[in-house]
Amino acid sequence: MYDVVIVGAGPAGLSAARMAAEAGLKVALIDDQPRIGGQYFRHAGVRRIGGILAPRFGRARYIHTSLSTLGRCGVEVLNEATVVEISADRTLTVAFRGSITQLQGENVVIATGARERVIPFPGWTTPGVIGAGAAQNLMKASGVLPGSRVVVVGANPLCLLAATSLLRCGVKIVAVCAPSRPRVTFNALLRLMRRPDIFLRGVGYLLMLKLYRIRMLSDYRVTDVIGDAKVTGVITRRFAEGLPPSEERLDVDLIVVNDGLLPNIELASRAGCEIEWEPSTSVWSPKRNADFETTIPHVYAVGDCVTASGVENSLLEGEIVAISIAASKDVGERGRLRRLSRLKWRWRRLQKFRSAVVELTVKESLDQRPLTDDTIVCRCEDVSLATINDALCQGVQDLNALKAETRVCMGRCQGRTCMHTVLALLATAVGKEPDQFKPPVPRLPLRPVKVGDWLKKF
Ligand SMILES: Cc1cc2nc3c(=O)[nH]c(=O)nc-3n(C[C@H](O)[C@H](O)[C@H](O)COP(=O)(O)OP(=O)(O)OC[C@H]3O[C@@H](n4cnc5c(N)ncnc54)[C@H](O)[C@@H]3O)c2cc1C
Repeated sequence: MYDVVIVGAGPAGLSAARMAAEAGLKVALIDDQPRIGGQYFRHAGVRRIGGILAPRFGRARYIHTSLSTLGRCGVEVLNEATVVEISADRTLTVAFRGSITQLQGENVVIATGARERVIPFPGWTTPGVIGAGAAQNLMKASGVLPGSRVVVVGANPLCLLAATSLLRCGVKIVAVCAPSRPRVTFNALLRLMRRPDIFLRGVGYLLMLKLYRIRMLSDYRVTDVIGDAKVTGVITRRFAEGLPPSEERLDVDLIVVNDGLLPNIELASRAGCEIEWEPSTSVWSPKRNADFETTIPHVYAVGDCVTASGVENSLLEGEIVAISIAASKDVGERGRLRRLSRLKWRWRRLQKFRSAVVELTVKESLDQRPLTDDTIVCRCEDVSLATINDALCQGVQDLNALKAETRVCMGRCQGRTCMHTVLALLATAVGKEPDQFKPPVPRLPLRPVKVGDWLKKF
């Protein structure tokens, strides 16, 4: 029995583990990746990318100091370990290097991060169309340049970051394409000033794109991808009000897309935590109290698995949750309550900043996409829009019936990629809002496990 079991060794899980261990708690940290660090600290000591010296991806020292703190405080770190089930007594079932093991925590901190959201468009499953986060990961973790002539599609911080990282690695950015221009208000600017450091970093990305004279196409959407076995180009069309639509072909070998991030809520959902709709970003998220405890006592959720708010937020939430747990067990440093209230004050400032970023991020919905009948919606099961529309026309009213009829959301990813799109289509067909549906509780095991490994458990 551990005082705290933390699932996910990204910024949120790492900072929670460091702080809890320093407070004297017995901690286990579980992550399914070979190295700790999550998405942000996915640096693998890559020295060269595509033949040029790798740029610095930021704060690599955090990992070194974390590793020494975890070692010094005796934190049990399980890498390449996937949590596939959680029970009511907070016992976690973990697939770990060819076997199944179980760990129980008096407290469980869920820090499972987020995944990329891509709203389908014609040709989005062609090899050579990748997420902005995936582009970052290929460069940071593997030293691989994903393409040589790139168009970046999307207007959010991760797209801007990916565009500048690609530029720094010597890639030709043909254009950055956004569906519209954000309306910057004075009030939003004031809120951005709550974190001038992060704001200036964002301004730096924009200046870099300007300096390199990168074409910024706003009011443009991708209407088609050219190439079957591999992307060779993209068709973009201008949809500006008052202007005639104009189409342009861009010759590229890589299309980098991102429509935001979707919190990985599956473990919280499986634990029985209440899941609520977050209207500002249109995602589901575990409900929590001021100490980040979910509706299930002693089960906490922090970082991107609640709302994707970036590395600073994840680091801060990890610290706050660890000090809250230490305080509830009456251990740790003497001034911990003062420290907790200082951290919470910083967290509230960050939420103001985040609300401005969300407001200024251009969001697109499915009905704005130029979809065609043969656009793939569920890529695991190869289900097209026409197949889904046929089922909806026959009167299918709920997700289970739609799954049975078409096999959407039933492939390897279990709907992690297409569920939001499918529910948006279903909602339109039955005249409801997407928030009127609850995401289904995922089935055991949460991630695919080899049958042989599973049988060893019995
Ligand atoms: C693909 C991708 C790339 C990104 N790249 C960047 C970037 O380069 N720069 C940037 O500023 N932001 C990036 N982000 C945003 C990033 O999510 C946050 O800035 C930050 O990493 C969030 O920290 P976190 O600890 O909340 O989650 P994460 O960093 O996502 O960490 C969560 C960890 O939990 C693990 N995990 C999940 N489920 C399980 C399970 N069932 N069992 C065991 N382990 C599990 C994951 O493998 C991961 O290691 C990226 C996001 C994504 C999705």
